[in-house]
Amino acid sequence: MSEINPFLNALKQLKTAADLMNLEASVLEILQKPKRILEFSIPVKMDDGTLKVFEGYRVQYNDARGPFKGGIRFHPETDLSEVKALAFWMTIKCAMVGIPMGGAKGGVTVDPKKLSIAELERLSRGYTRAVADFIGPEKDVPAPDVNTTPQIMAWIMDEYSKIKGFNNPGVVTGKPLEVNGSKGRDIATAQGGFYILEKVLEKIKLMDEKGKSKTANSDITVAIQGTGNVGGNMAKILAKNGFKIVAISDSKGGIVRKSKINGFEKLDVEGAMKWKKENESLEGFPGTEAVSHKELLELPVDILIPAAMENQITDENVDKIKAKIILELANGPTTPEADAKLFKRGITVVPDVLANAGGVTVSYFEWCQNIRNYYWEEEKVISRLEKIMKESFDEVWVIKEKYSVDMRTAAFVLAITRIAEAIRMRGM
Ligand code: NAD
Repeated sequence: MSEINPFLNALKQLKTAADLMNLEASVLEILQKPKRILEFSIPVKMDDGTLKVFEGYRVQYNDARGPFKGGIRFHPETDLSEVKALAFWMTIKCAMVGIPMGGAKGGVTVDPKKLSIAELERLSRGYTRAVADFIGPEKDVPAPDVNTTPQIMAWIMDEYSKIKGFNNPGVVTGKPLEVNGSKGRDIATAQGGFYILEKVLEKIKLMDEKGKSKTANSDITVAIQGTGNVGGNMAKILAKNGFKIVAISDSKGGIVRKSKINGFEKLDVEGAMKWKKENESLEGFPGTEAVSHKELLELPVDILIPAAMENQITDENVDKIKAKIILELANGPTTPEADAKLFKRGITVVPDVLANAGGVTVSYFEWCQNIRNYYWEEEKVISRLEKIMKESFDEVWVIKEKYSVDMRTAAFVLAITRIAEAIRMRGM
């Protein structure tokens, strides 16, 4: 994915937690390696009659606590190291929020923006055929990730059902409501992140330049990197709750609303999203100026929300980060070296495995509904999500305080304790 190997970073995070909790060597060894790696080619007939072969992956990391679970990413820079890291983080995430599932991830090295809808469908169906023997409601349940949509999940469900010969909605989550999706799944990752942020703000008091506590949401400035499913929904939820969003971005670049008097002005999030739809870019949205990917991360805001790709906050830019809270809605946006420096500086990093666990939590609810063929009201989905997110936060906070460590290490300790118990009980 990038020059920084995400899987090696994930292993460093694992080692830090394992050392702290004196994890036995045998369990550590199991957790250092994926259980199964599938690497395959997907031939796709293009609209012009030519054939293209894409590289596909599915990494089934660990299933000690239940069936494998994790999204599929379509991205030009996706590679095996990235998918392994993402599969490992899914293992930690599911255990941390107490979901009875293991961790997996999939990916295809492709720029889906260069495919027609028909080509995208053929690629998605080809991916499904390649992994059909290895996925299933009791085996491994994929879901959306970067550039994969509810429509793609519907194609996967349909192709898998055709292969098996009967309707099989529980094979994949994040489906549209029309084909056995769950209410609330579309906003779940952002909504879960919002509950975590509420808890963080109860613990950490943000101050203004005069040393006065910022109590109103409208005083709290936020910059968000990425405006897809996760970042876009988070921007809308925060705006609805009165937060002062001042900068947002997408893969092409970002916009910021600056003011000469007090640094920043509040950005009209709904307006900016509409502008992006109409102009295919955020740039040029009235009242804002362009900001580069690099500059957005370094803005002097209270809360920075990476919601795009991994390795964004690294040794190179960590000293220039000015936010007081970093809420990781993306997976793996902070490298271990940067993490250590941020901790030393007293900057709170709310780790991905906690901050973005709302997505897999509601994916689990969707799977439960599919298995029973009985569907819940949105209110039930959201209230159960809130309970799980807030209780998980409290559990992580207790460990963080007990060992005086960062929240990531605390979250890993909680998750690894649960996975290790399952491994021991089942027998190695
Ligand atoms: P998405 O495809 O819907 O959106 C990705 C967004 O990131 C787009 O706005 C894209 O333009 C932007 N982007 C890409 N590269 C960028 C860059 N260098 N700088 C700024 N913006 C950039 O994907 P998503 O589902 O929103 O996923 C985003 C992140 O959240 C990923 O790390 C993913 O693994 C993680 N995540 C997603 C879910 C989920 O439910 N979808 C759950 C947990 C974690």
